[in-house]
Amino acid sequence: MIGSASGGSPSPPALVAAIDVGGTSVKAGFVGAGGAVHGERRVPTRVADGPAAVVAGIVELAAELAAEPGVRAIGIGVPGIVDGPAGTARWAANLGWRDVPFVSMIGDRTGLDVALGHDVRNGALAEARWGAGRDARSVYFLAIGTGIAGGSVLDGVVDDGASGQAGEIGHLVVVPGGPACNCGNHGCVETLASASRIAAAYSRAVCGEFSAAEVAARAAAGESVAVEVWGRAVAALADGLAALTVLNDPGLIVLGGGLSLAGQQLLDPVREALAQRLTFRTAPELALTALGDRAGLLGAGLRAWNRVEG
Ligand SMILES: [Zn+2]
Repeated sequence: MIGSASGGSPSPPALVAAIDVGGTSVKAGFVGAGGAVHGERRVPTRVADGPAAVVAGIVELAAELAAEPGVRAIGIGVPGIVDGPAGTARWAANLGWRDVPFVSMIGDRTGLDVALGHDVRNGALAEARWGAGRDARSVYFLAIGTGIAGGSVLDGVVDDGASGQAGEIGHLVVVPGGPACNCGNHGCVETLASASRIAAAYSRAVCGEFSAAEVAARAAAGESVAVEVWGRAVAALADGLAALTVLNDPGLIVLGGGLSLAGQQLLDPVREALAQRLTFRTAPELALTALGDRAGLLGAGLRAWNRVEG
């Protein structure tokens, strides 16, 4: 317990509630003004129950969190296309919803201010404030998992774009005519460099079933097929990040998501390949996530704090 009113009953610490919705689990908890997480919990998303049930579960979870003394606002992060100013989750391929007005639904239910953001751009916000980018003015964060998404933060403000679709480096085409992407295009960065595509490409080549982490380990051991698959992923990431660097000039690029658990084995070759591509300028610094899989939750909390602090 922090802070107590003099002469009265202790006042609860000021907190915001945060919810980070993923395809398999929903993370939730309370975030203090300095970035401390309390009461973290994870519940299954239950995608198989259908979008209406998933939405109802999120609203119910928000109502539970809102009942905690001291909660001032609620922040929520969701994947897909997110219209933050309108308070609406427009679309999410893996969750199956369209035009869900989370801000009014949760606001009406709890009576609290609600801030809605894109899960990975929330992660970018948190890495820039409390994570690997805390000393940098201009940060680009990308999360490499089942897909690849990212977000730019300049002076503590994340760029959501005109229609809530900024920073989508995963769908930058780097190999024209390359592998088909879920977005309908071919040769996007994520068709070669997402954890799921790395795993699939290697598994197909060796007729087995392997995770991206296993491919990374085999590549490190010099196994030729793994080296080739890993190399293609690194090249695609470097192509995408080179384009981003030329356009946005970030001071720091932070690699997050599940694939970032490969650590130096990801960081070092991407750094080298990026520098090779940037022939006329120095490359931005590259770092691994400092917040890990909590970045999205912390970023949802930050959006809520921004609401409280006006
Ligand atoms: Zn794509």
